[in-house]
Amino acid sequence: MLQQQKIIMASVGEVMINKQVILKHFINTAPKESDMVVKTSSLSLKVEPGSNAVVVKNLYLSCDPFMGSRMKKFENPDFNSFIPGSPLEGIGVAKVLDSGHLDFKKGNLVWGTVGWEEYGVVENPENLFKIHHTDVPLSYYTGILGMPGITAWAGFYKVAAPKKGEYVFVSAAAGAVGQLVGQFAKLMGCYVVGSAGSKEKVEILKNKLGFDDAFNYKEEHDLDAALKRCFPEGIDIYFDNVGGKILDAVLLNMRIKGRIVVCGMISQYYLRQPEGVRNLLNIVIKRVRIEGFVVVDYVPQYSKFLEVVLPLIREGKIVYLEDITEGLENAPAALVGLFNGRNIGKQIVLVARE
Ligand code: NAP
Repeated sequence: MLQQQKIIMASVGEVMINKQVILKHFINTAPKESDMVVKTSSLSLKVEPGSNAVVVKNLYLSCDPFMGSRMKKFENPDFNSFIPGSPLEGIGVAKVLDSGHLDFKKGNLVWGTVGWEEYGVVENPENLFKIHHTDVPLSYYTGILGMPGITAWAGFYKVAAPKKGEYVFVSAAAGAVGQLVGQFAKLMGCYVVGSAGSKEKVEILKNKLGFDDAFNYKEEHDLDAALKRCFPEGIDIYFDNVGGKILDAVLLNMRIKGRIVVCGMISQYYLRQPEGVRNLLNIVIKRVRIEGFVVVDYVPQYSKFLEVVLPLIREGKIVYLEDITEGLENAPAALVGLFNGRNIGKQIVLVARE
């Protein structure tokens, strides 16, 4: 249902019926559709006089694992919880309808933090990036040209410091970040293996994304044996998206001076008691460096990142799989799907066409 309804032409400007995805309550387990509700309200499409804000029409919304974490009650000032009764927030691609901010004007296409709603007022447009390159799909600014793209680029090139010919393992390899890490590693001349949670994803990794090998971690009873089968000479770089049992098995298979880049630990986010990792002694024996990173530290390098990735897309040297759900009313199901592996590639919600 991609039809918006205009209700009034008033002196304040157009007022639109605005569908929103509202958080009902804080969660303790993985998000469920019943933790969210889709409601309608109305919104003036004019910026209040004197305000710095920008009014946007959302086109694409990105489903990201961090959104599940923000549905929990957090006391950490660096990681704000969503507010029950208010719309979720996430990264989106939007069109500016009105602006009180000097850097934006009506008609600009932008990406950045927006509410999970059809129309919204962005009070801090400093968090929006203007889209200058429209020869690539706009949806890419939620993925390969947005937050997951910078994450994959920074984690692989900056944190892992890869060298040609190295052995690279990526978990959650068919997802938004993992599929790019694997392709960057292939471009670098590495040997790349990915793990994912279904036969279909394994086929895609090998046949569409150019991974040298892949396995379904849900069907492997012995993860250590699976890694030894794929990496008889061991692993130089592990790009960790999942943590837990896979990380523990990887530790048994690292090569001397290997690097483990900890991007995320999705297998641990909703466990009442995080799983222990037992094979840590290998860090000493194999002189392994384990380093976590957070994408926000690399956002200032966004234009440098674009200079690398845009040509790769245009020259067809890299592909990007998207899993697009249509309609804001289906956004809760799309978000929930991340936590049971329903998505193949980057999960996006198409809210409206331009
Ligand atoms: P994604 O891979 O597109 O979606 C999540 C995938 O995780 C699912 O499709 C599922 O694939 C897998 N998964 C879910 N539950 C799992 C479990 N219990 N065990 C193993 N795999 C599980 O997500 P993404 O956006 O690319 O994010 C990947 C990771 O990067 C996440 O951990 C995320 O939190 C992290 N991240 C970190 C940063 C940062 O700044 N450090 C930035 C962005 C993302 P399968 O079918 O393979 O199970």
